[in-house]
Amino acid sequence: MSRVRLVSPDLISQDEESFNQTLRPPSLEQYVGQRKIVEKLSIALQAARQRSESAEHTLLYGPPGLGKTTLAHIIANSMGAKIVTTSGPALERTGDLMGILTNLGEGDILFIDEIHRLPANIEEFLYPAMEDFKVDFVVDKGMFAKTINVPLKKFTLVGATTRAGNLSAPLRNRFGLFFHLEFYPVEDLKKIILRSAHILEVPVDDAGAAEIAQRARGTPRIANRLLRRVRDYADVKADGNITAEVARQALKLEGVDEQGLDELDRNFLSTIIRLYKGGPVGVEAMAATLNEEVDTLVDMVEPYLLQLGFVSRTRSGRMANEPAYRHLKLSMPGRSPGLFES
Ligand code: ADP
Repeated sequence: MSRVRLVSPDLISQDEESFNQTLRPPSLEQYVGQRKIVEKLSIALQAARQRSESAEHTLLYGPPGLGKTTLAHIIANSMGAKIVTTSGPALERTGDLMGILTNLGEGDILFIDEIHRLPANIEEFLYPAMEDFKVDFVVDKGMFAKTINVPLKKFTLVGATTRAGNLSAPLRNRFGLFFHLEFYPVEDLKKIILRSAHILEVPVDDAGAAEIAQRARGTPRIANRLLRRVRDYADVKADGNITAEVARQALKLEGVDEQGLDELDRNFLSTIIRLYKGGPVGVEAMAATLNEEVDTLVDMVEPYLLQLGFVSRTRSGRMANEPAYRHLKLSMPGRSPGLFES
């Protein structure tokens, strides 16, 4: 089932993509938060520059919308290199990848988003490219088949994945740098919102930015999207200024609650609690009940609910935890009803 969720960490339109590009920080200095990653990456890049070498192959892992693509562009900027962008599912034939690889110059960046979705044959084709900067390309078929060895320039592969666990060990081991992006604390999201508001020339006060940050599910992409929605509301329903009150009203109208949960999240929680008695329940059963794709639940719904401690993943399935009951104002089994109703 496809539906547009305001709080989905995935891109929802082409228009949003160009909006994101305007707001994308071009350098590590302007990249908000993720301090440990920024520090390690800045040392690695500076070292590579000093040695006039290309940057090491880098794997970025974390939920959608946290700034992996942004980091890939920053790596390219900081190395003064070109960046070519593709994604795991877009690479179907070795020929596709061959074309891209042979066009890369010394130090250029190849960014592969959703790298865990690379077909197996393409992945194997990448190994010698990453390790020895060459590819073995088979031309012709049958008895005329021959392998030609094509040397490549020393490029840098930057891979991004939401599922590090789905990556094969041989691929994972070929990356020199590995960074795990975490959800952003509200303070960082607030800085991102203030920065974006400044670029977009949207008047927002501190409290207004804080209200939006609180509902952005730890995700910069969602923070920027909510800002945009609140800006429309402020223009139409108020005097254009984003205050805490305007932000609250705008996001309430959108069905986004104080924790940034929308209807799908709340349905997810109430289904575990009411239909499956708090769990454990398998994600496939949840997907069937909610009429959603398993991937949508695993990538777009669960990570933030796990982060909030609303659900936990156990070997036998998903369980709802006490904060989820409290958030939905439901009582936990074994406790007196109305315990959480204030
Ligand atoms: P991902 O590739 O992980 O899905 P993106 O790199 O596309 O995420 O980030 C989504 C948007 O969020 C970007 O366009 C950028 O405007 C913003 N963003 C992400 N990380 C940061 C950050 N650390 N500081 C400021 N803005 C950020």
